[in-house]
Amino acid sequence: MVTDAKIASAATLVSTNPATGEVLAELQCASPEDVRNALLRAKAAQPRWQAMSVRDRIAILRKFQRLLSQRRDSVAQLICREVGKPTAEALATEVLVVLDATEFCIRHAHRFLREKPVPHGNILMNIKRGKLVREPYGVIGIIAPWNYPFSTPASETLAALVTGNAVVLKPSELTPLIALELERLFRDAGLDPDLFQVMVGEGPTGAALVESPVDKLIFTGSVATGKRVAESAAQRLLPVVLELGGKDPMIVLEDANLEVTTSGALWGAFMNAGQTCLSVERCYVQRSLYAPFLEMCRKKIGKLRVGNGIGSEAEIGPMIHERQLRIVEEHVNDAVARGARVLAGGRRLSEIGPNYYAPTLLADVTNDMRIMQEETFGPVLPVAPFDTDDDAVRLANDSDFGLAASVWTRNRRRGEAVAARIKAGTVMLNDMISSFGIADAPHGGVKQSGIGRTHGELGMQEMVQVKYINVDLVPGVPKPWWFGYGKRYQQQMDGLVNFLFGRNWIAKLKGGLWSMGLLRRSSRI
Ligand code: NAD
Repeated sequence: MVTDAKIASAATLVSTNPATGEVLAELQCASPEDVRNALLRAKAAQPRWQAMSVRDRIAILRKFQRLLSQRRDSVAQLICREVGKPTAEALATEVLVVLDATEFCIRHAHRFLREKPVPHGNILMNIKRGKLVREPYGVIGIIAPWNYPFSTPASETLAALVTGNAVVLKPSELTPLIALELERLFRDAGLDPDLFQVMVGEGPTGAALVESPVDKLIFTGSVATGKRVAESAAQRLLPVVLELGGKDPMIVLEDANLEVTTSGALWGAFMNAGQTCLSVERCYVQRSLYAPFLEMCRKKIGKLRVGNGIGSEAEIGPMIHERQLRIVEEHVNDAVARGARVLAGGRRLSEIGPNYYAPTLLADVTNDMRIMQEETFGPVLPVAPFDTDDDAVRLANDSDFGLAASVWTRNRRRGEAVAARIKAGTVMLNDMISSFGIADAPHGGVKQSGIGRTHGELGMQEMVQVKYINVDLVPGVPKPWWFGYGKRYQQQMDGLVNFLFGRNWIAKLKGGLWSMGLLRRSSRI
């Protein structure tokens, strides 16, 4: 929900650079009528796209991939200007992720869309052949957030397109220019413009998309908006995927490599200024490692470069807007008031620009603090000690969220045992966040973190409806289960049950003899 100064009026919105406050563009918002018209155009174009061969659809994706690779610098710079993340990070976590997601679609679409036989276990049903076919929904609506404004909607769009759908995208009001750049890339790759349309706007434009005749919706954003979207979708049983917030725990076991783990913790908590759904939002360190872990993190934080990521070596950019900064301040203040210690940061960096917050290290936090329960979405690493593996699992699972988690240890078996007990969509050992960059891996959460998956084969699966087709191999014969019931029929059926599920061979044999009658049975009706 944006009530930000970035919004100029109900009909237009302003895109600004969060690092400097510079206005990048003022754009018209799409009205509900615009959204509806876009949907109708998409619906008209989609059957032609579905009828094309997978090979021809892949050819467009290949061109898109080539163009994106050629334009990667300008795309990364635009991402940096509109969201604030350093260009190097935009290249790694946005452009590269999309190039790889395209490759995944190109390599796997044929196999994924191929018809699959369904063998029948019941001997009686072997007079039939079954198969699964996967068909596109039609038009997929995508509502996207600002923090990964390119890789999130692009990965979803690629999976939707390659499986034969059209897409209407409502990007975040804070990052419309990046979405328009994505639209340009698809058009330049030769995609019919009606098959991928961007509807710039705020919440009401998103709401209009949910209420439009879209066939499925992929929503990525906050839990609060996700619930509103789900309520609206439920009115007409519109299928939805919800990719929502996270409060990812990092569990550091006593045998973890301190040097590597502390570097990982800082990247996991501070990359994209902590505004990543998969960020480390809570860190639990086994007591024997607790003090050295904090000390090494504190020393390393001093070496981090904060600043405008355009043409510089900055590693941490600004936050997206002032409202987000205020949430971070509230969480840090609440933690300090309840006894947490600030070991680094803990303040705005107004001397650099309007939206900068210093990378912050908090010690002695407890799970009842807001910073350990609510999504902070800022550059803060709150750390708490634990004693046993059981304690670590209990603390990690003490959350409404369940997006991802990480476990850090040199002992793989112990790490996997802890991972198995954590309630989350993804658990990584000795790394975090990078699962989003593995095109084959599914992405999504449990509990309040959402429903469904994007990325990989499971993400493709969300873009298709499964149809089971069954062909009878003896079409000239009436089926034994049709009308014509009576005492004899009941005995034959009883015999069949015994034949299939009888407790011993004698019962099976007797049942088999009785059930033979079913084959000779001619239907009364
Ligand atoms: P948000 O919920 O404010 O907005 C998300 C999108 O929903 C925007 O495009 C917005 O315009 C739109 N929207 C707002 N009101 C709407 C309505 N009533 N109907 C339909 N659409 C509406 O979220 P945000 O601030 O843009 O993004 C940050 C949140 O997204 C964080 O909670 C983060 O964890 C989450 N996120 C999750 C994932 C994931 O994959 N699980 C990825 C990125 C971000």
